[in-house]
Amino acid sequence: MGILEQMSLAGKKGFVTGAARGIGKCTALAFAEAGADVAIVDMDLETAQETAKEIAEATGRKVIALKCDVTNEADVQAMVDAVVAELGGLDFCHANAGICINEAADKMTYAQWKKNIDVNLNSVFLTDTIAGRYMLANGGGSIINTASMSAHIVNVPQPQCAYNASKAGVIQLTKSLAIEWAKKGVRVNSISPGYIGTDLTLSSPTLQPLIAQWNAMAPMGRLGKPEELGSICVYLAGDTSTFTTGSDFILDGAFTCF
Ligand code: NAD
Repeated sequence: MGILEQMSLAGKKGFVTGAARGIGKCTALAFAEAGADVAIVDMDLETAQETAKEIAEATGRKVIALKCDVTNEADVQAMVDAVVAELGGLDFCHANAGICINEAADKMTYAQWKKNIDVNLNSVFLTDTIAGRYMLANGGGSIINTASMSAHIVNVPQPQCAYNASKAGVIQLTKSLAIEWAKKGVRVNSISPGYIGTDLTLSSPTLQPLIAQWNAMAPMGRLGKPEELGSICVYLAGDTSTFTTGSDFILDGAFTCF
């Protein structure tokens, strides 16, 4: 079998959280283009339904939309059960939903800190362990988590201590699960994007004004596009990455190299 055939996700089934828009929408499209059936999981059901329709029409794959707050354990369990029931199994997932709270540490409330940790880190624990339990009992699988270059550097000038800490936690959680499940057929990896042009950056009143400053610091002089993250996720979900687990893939146009 040639390498392109081996990279195909034909017959595989998976879900992406935070997939109504942005990075998750692009990786869900890439998974479907590679042949997988995919669930678009988001707390914004209306947009998730539009995204699912768009990707199904573009790819001819089965694409469903599921409402889920990834910080709610019962919601995540119900979502994984629905993916298995409606798609007929679960081979891969991308835990991608996240938010960024920009607040100076000395002004940040404990509620803001907890919210950022809950959405970005606790949700990944819930998604990975609930999906992982199914995969461990059903022939294995591949889990991809969205971390960030903010797990590796402290972004400037905007203050975002909770975000940075949450994403560093995602990488250590990824490595911990990878080791626990290494002999059990479940692989766990993370991606660490640099600045990407999505609503999180382009529509944020605090971040959008900083884009020119970031671009001046960026070796490539530009933001990444969410479409530039799809191929690595297809690789991680598929059968050409069977020796790849516990790895973090930095996709930042060399932003963190200096
Ligand atoms: P986005 O704001 O465009 O999309 C995030 C999606 O997550 C939205 O559809 C939102 O409804 C959903 N969501 C938020 N909270 C949720 C919850 N509790 N339950 C279910 N869904 C929820 O953001 P994006 O830029 O596409 O970011 C996706 C991921 O990539 C995040 O984890 C983010 O931290 C990470 N990331 C983004 C960048 C960037 O520059 N955009 C860089 C590095 C990492």
